[in-house]
Amino acid sequence: MLSVETDLLKSKAVHSNGNGKHTRRAVEYFGKNTFNDEVMREKLPKDVYKKLRATIRKGVKLDKDVANTVAHAMKEWAIEHGVTHYTHWFQPMTGLTAEKHDAFLEIDNDGEPIERFSGNELIQGEPDASSFPSGGMRTTFEARGYTMWDPSSPAFIVDGPHGSILCIPSVFISYNGEALDKKTPLLRSMRALDAAAREMLALFGRDVERVITTLGPEQEYFLIDKEFYHNRPDLIHAGRTLLGAAPPKGQEMEDHYFGSIKERVLGFMQAAEEELYRLGVPAKTRHNEVAPHQFEIAQIFGEANVVADRNQLVMEVLKKVAARHGFALLLHEKPFAGVNGSGKHLNWSITDSEGKNLLDPGKTPEDNLQFLVFLVAVLKAVYEYSDLLRASIASAGNDHRLGANEAPPAIMSVFLGSTLTQILDKIETGNGGAVSEQKLIDLGLGNLPTILQDNTDRNRTSPFAFTGNKFEFRAVGSSASISLPATILNAAVAEALAGMQEKIAARRKKGDDLNSAVFAVVKEIVTATKAVRFEGNNYAEEWVAEAEKRGLPNLKDTPAALQALIEEKNIRMLEKQNVYSESELQSRYNTKMEQFCKTIAIETETLLMLAQTSVLPAAMRYQTELLDNTSRLREAAELLGEDSGLDEQVQLLRSLSAEIRDLHRSVQELVQLRHKAEGFEQISDEAHFVAAEIRPMLEQVRRHCDALEKLVPDADWPLPTYSEMLFIM
Ligand code: ADP
Ligand code: MG
Repeated sequence: MLSVETDLLKSKAVHSNGNGKHTRRAVEYFGKNTFNDEVMREKLPKDVYKKLRATIRKGVKLDKDVANTVAHAMKEWAIEHGVTHYTHWFQPMTGLTAEKHDAFLEIDNDGEPIERFSGNELIQGEPDASSFPSGGMRTTFEARGYTMWDPSSPAFIVDGPHGSILCIPSVFISYNGEALDKKTPLLRSMRALDAAAREMLALFGRDVERVITTLGPEQEYFLIDKEFYHNRPDLIHAGRTLLGAAPPKGQEMEDHYFGSIKERVLGFMQAAEEELYRLGVPAKTRHNEVAPHQFEIAQIFGEANVVADRNQLVMEVLKKVAARHGFALLLHEKPFAGVNGSGKHLNWSITDSEGKNLLDPGKTPEDNLQFLVFLVAVLKAVYEYSDLLRASIASAGNDHRLGANEAPPAIMSVFLGSTLTQILDKIETGNGGAVSEQKLIDLGLGNLPTILQDNTDRNRTSPFAFTGNKFEFRAVGSSASISLPATILNAAVAEALAGMQEKIAARRKKGDDLNSAVFAVVKEIVTATKAVRFEGNNYAEEWVAEAEKRGLPNLKDTPAALQALIEEKNIRMLEKQNVYSESELQSRYNTKMEQFCKTIAIETETLLMLAQTSVLPAAMRYQTELLDNTSRLREAAELLGEDSGLDEQVQLLRSLSAEIRDLHRSVQELVQLRHKAEGFEQISDEAHFVAAEIRPMLEQVRRHCDALEKLVPDADWPLPTYSEMLFIM
């Protein structure tokens, strides 16, 4: 593979931007590192190409002969691009992406080196899966899992310093067909939603080939200088600062958001975007975020499974390019206390194969009745399965955002905006009976798109907001894979649609006309799910009390939230929708509980290390200095007289000594709690203990460290400070 620079110089598309610098139009190289539709059409025989397209469209398994031809073409294409190795690239349950590289190189019967890649190797790889988490689903003797190409997500090339790697987006399943990854359930949930939505559309007399889930994630992140990062063991090991006093200037000025982007950062963004474009990721918007050194990148939405892969790529590419530019890129949900956290707004909608967004209101009142059906199906989904949705975004990192003092609370509610709220309220209070076109118009369903467009009210505090033609699930964490929240949402909406469709069909059978039957069911659901709608300020304390009155769950930490994964009603729904089996859910529960405990264990070790080997020694050195100074001052009493300032210095010495003493004590307490945590047999007992006991103690240790940071001379403080990390670049 040519390096980007040499490629640029050779390209005919190079042109000057007037500053004597060369830029290239993105359309010229977009997707060049992907085995995309254009390449497939060029490299594959017509009939094979057609069969592959059909496989992709229908989401079925690839035929063996087709696979062999595709593998050959893919290999030839890859070798032309300097590829030496291939890997099945997948999302294990940990949320990272995993790869194991195999060379194309083989030795033939005559002992000669050849390059080979067969259909078998394309559709099925066999990694030794024993070191990936299975949450107890596999025993070691059957440690083998299969990775299989998901043909709807294009293979791509990642350039390395000495040759490139062909990445084959894959699913990862065990011997007996259980999903060991996040992609398989996502694909299943897309199928469930496709089927349920098509059945609903059929009631409206619409016959479409497919209904597709679309996703558009907005990725937030922090950038800091690499030098600072390398001097912060907490950032290196835990991904977040475990201590650090608040800087004199925080984000109070709100001067960062949409402010001009610094040149150094812009350089990084442009380089990252160029790499993403080559990988076929349509990065669209970039801007500063609320907090200092916080930024966002959003890609153009697309089909859910493809976009889930792309978001993993975005995270990987951003980190890699940042390092090249002397930055460390932080994806953690809360890298800095007291400063805005990072999320990943997950925009979600459904579109039919004719390109009609089903959450886009239509031109006629009847169209809008259909729109309302899909809208209230989402209301029902969030209402019935808010605990599951909360579980789908639960992680140790995200706990710092949810239910903490900022950004969406742990209570799941839906914001619709005033226009739709008024319409639903009218539907709720209106009487039943025959539903004429005039009645629909009177309800406000006449010309909804224009009204909604004019009506741009936005509620930035809602965890789940309707934004004109899609929902925005805002509570997703910045470091998380978007697969799980999308999977749960798809499954819950599929379930809601199926239930509604049955009810409408039953009314039709009894003789109701379509409009009246649909209207009655919409009304029933609007009324039943009213509690989940909230238009007010989600950050306000009154909302917590109000939500409790409404009976909405408020699951404050990860162990409490994860319980939903193994609740009977949720297992039943997910099994019915063929998205997860009970054992698959149990394994996710176990894996996530383990991850939570491990994360806090790492934080504990790191904080203890920092407190004992950095903070306390620095504080005690200063204590010695002060002791020295105060005794000398006393000796000089005759010289300086009564007003020597000795009392003030003794006061300082007292405060310092008290903090040192308290830090010592809380370190001891933390050590004891850590021992206790190791003694639990059940992972759930351990996780609840960790959340209830260890976490608050981490905070206590931190408080003493931060108090000391404010006392110890800046020049002697052993760690980069918040001021340095957040304001110097
Ligand atoms: P904002 O910050 O105002 O929410 P952005 O433009 O940053 O808006 O992000 C909106 C995201 O929603 C983009 O990624 C966009 O592609 C995506 N999006 C737009 N329409 C849809 C849709 N129908 N389905 C899923 N995502 C969508
Ligand atoms: Mg948004």
